[in-house]
Amino acid sequence: MYRDERVTASEAVWRRCTLYVTEGECVRCSACMHACLLQQGQYGVCGVRMNRGGELYGLLDYVSHARADPIERKPLFHYRPGSLVYSIGGVGCNFACDFCQNYMVSIEFASVELTRVAPMQIIRQARTQRADGIAFTFNEPAISAESVHDISRLAHKKGFFTAMATNGYLSKEAVDYLSPHMDACIVGVKTFDEEFYARSCNASLARLKEALSHVMGAGWHVEFSYLVRNDDRGYGDFLSFISQFDGPQILHLGKFFPSYKSTDDETPSEMLVSYHRKARDAGIEYVYISDLYGSRYESTVCPSCGAMLIEREGSVGDDTVISPFCASYDIISYRVTDDGHCPDCGHPIRVEGPPTRRD
Ligand code: SF4
Repeated sequence: MYRDERVTASEAVWRRCTLYVTEGECVRCSACMHACLLQQGQYGVCGVRMNRGGELYGLLDYVSHARADPIERKPLFHYRPGSLVYSIGGVGCNFACDFCQNYMVSIEFASVELTRVAPMQIIRQARTQRADGIAFTFNEPAISAESVHDISRLAHKKGFFTAMATNGYLSKEAVDYLSPHMDACIVGVKTFDEEFYARSCNASLARLKEALSHVMGAGWHVEFSYLVRNDDRGYGDFLSFISQFDGPQILHLGKFFPSYKSTDDETPSEMLVSYHRKARDAGIEYVYISDLYGSRYESTVCPSCGAMLIEREGSVGDDTVISPFCASYDIISYRVTDDGHCPDCGHPIRVEGPPTRRD
């Protein structure tokens, strides 16, 4: 257990990482697809892992924000619907998106106050909040894979499920390392354009595709979100890409809001609706629009007969500091049968775990 004191990243106690190899006097991090080769004293792209004396050290075990959320806010709609997750995040990111809505913890984090927490403290806090699961979110979990691993392993032992919100840029080593202890993830795709990923995110679409193949083979419940921008050019390729994987795909379309350094226009609602139609035409069974509150696009309908199965009511999240544009959802009605079918036409409906009733 650690004392309850707030420190910045430079004041924190960094610990030795697991996911790396040494190459002469350098270390190569294997937590994400950047595979940073670091000389003595050098930081990785994420800013929270560094070569210290020929070993890789990371800013692990620290939390910047924590709160209990409905799982639908991640967004995860087909895993334990209605459950509450204790959502935690640290600082840093392996991307550098110029439109990031959480830039204050992912990129400009030098003065952010952090609390050091042992895995058992997280579990106790989750219990106090009456959470059903633990979610790693707010910043990229892959860059603190060792913490995610330790907390998730204990969470499973204590009866919690685990989930993470990731940009998907995990290495195969990280996926294998986390695989036994992770249940579900939402992969946030920014667009499907190599030039855009390089220019706006400091990442590679080709490497992301490789990483997503690992993620899809991990045995986790996976849902995708896709950020729809006015200048989007890769949506058709994205739909083709996710269609190659087995099982019904679950897709959340997100509206672009200008944030951080970006002054680009907000995505018009008509564009989101047309993207919804394109996904359904491409055979994606479950497609949602995250930011059209009060519309049918936030509810689950039977892909076969169109019957309303899980009715949700979305609203703007109540936290304006972190993830301010992430909607919150309440479940109004739930009609999927106990054995996972549409009650009207019998079509199989993919929902993992029973619904949880919240008071
Ligand atoms: S997590 Fe990714 S960005 Fe950070 S040091 Fe490792 S390889 Fe580099």
